[in-house]
Amino acid sequence: MDKFIPLSIPNFEGNEKKYVDDAVIQGWVSTGGAYVTKLEQEMAKFLHVDNIAACQSGTSALHLSLVEAGVRPGDLVIVPPLTFIAAVNPVKYQFATPVFIDCDDSFCIDPIKLRSFCEQECQWDGNVLKHNDADVKAVVVVHVFGNMADMEAIMDIAEKYNLKVIEDATEALGTKYTEGKYQNKYAGTIGDFGCYSFNGNKIITTGGGGAVTSNNPKAVDHLRFLSTQAKTDPHCYIHDEVGYNYRMTNLQAALGVAQMEELPEFIKRKQRNYEWYKKLFDGFEYGSLMPFRSGTSSNKWFYSVHIDQTRVAVSMREVIIALYEKGIETRAIWGLINEQKPYKDEETYKLEKAPYYANCILNIPSSTQITKEEMQYVADQVKQLLRSLADG
Ligand SMILES: *Cc1c(COP(=O)(O)O)cnc(C)c1O
Repeated sequence: MDKFIPLSIPNFEGNEKKYVDDAVIQGWVSTGGAYVTKLEQEMAKFLHVDNIAACQSGTSALHLSLVEAGVRPGDLVIVPPLTFIAAVNPVKYQFATPVFIDCDDSFCIDPIKLRSFCEQECQWDGNVLKHNDADVKAVVVVHVFGNMADMEAIMDIAEKYNLKVIEDATEALGTKYTEGKYQNKYAGTIGDFGCYSFNGNKIITTGGGGAVTSNNPKAVDHLRFLSTQAKTDPHCYIHDEVGYNYRMTNLQAALGVAQMEELPEFIKRKQRNYEWYKKLFDGFEYGSLMPFRSGTSSNKWFYSVHIDQTRVAVSMREVIIALYEKGIETRAIWGLINEQKPYKDEETYKLEKAPYYANCILNIPSSTQITKEEMQYVADQVKQLLRSLADG
């Protein structure tokens, strides 16, 4: 295979090496150091928030948010079925119970079904929402592939029923509203908590890492405190709460500061490349590129080809392998979380779109370095393959 186009790889065209070298030379490689603070400042400035805490991963950001939101053993947390499992696992870390509610055509939680679940399946006593005697405490809203969930509708429902909103913006750093009630608000800065990830495949990376913000700056201070083993008195090792080893290291943050410098350029390229792919798939009889929500500017992190299974019934596995043999790395959207072993006995609510999309979405290469020629090749190969499968 002489050609290989990866799905999504990191881009280190900026000051990454310089800052990491600097951190090593200074000897600040662990959880103390100036780059961690600098990364938090740069992110706060970018997102227009007062306070944000850098941590080890998007998963730890989500876990800390649930802790701070007061999710306790036996509580109920509303979660999505069609996303990466890390959005849901922290609910189990708290010994709470997930309820899976369907997505809409943005792949994000469907506010109409969220509302009907609260109205028809729960009891509201004016203070707490109850479902089968359990307290419904929170909803984890994932902004899937950089698409903004319908936050106006979701926040209305959450306010009415006293639900904490935890935004999983791990795929949506830089996505924002361009109109409406939340104009100029970024994904992750609208709900009670917002979580980001800097894993290797995300729009910026620190190797592994994450960050968490909140509409309450004091809550962020407390999250930072919990992430560093909850040292009430750091000199005498006094701990009044159970803490975690979730703090980002200075080495990771050195990478992160360099990546933040490039974030606007990365977003620009992702948006430009999306438009280019869209043209290439325009008029294709067996599929189309999924759109992003209107009234928003998405970071366009991942591109989704929606294969029309009514016209060309294909096995996603077969498509992915055939394209791999042509030197193109693609992937299917996730397996439904409610069908995974640890979750198969949990409650689901009106799942229709999630199982539908689970079987017809193909993610195509979206690295910021991809060239026009490579995108042309990807589109040609995808179209040729689906046409030949339809004819066969
Ligand atoms: C990447 C991702 C996470 C987890 O982030 P990590 O930094 O890998 O722990 C959580 N939720 C979603 C939707 C993700 O894509």
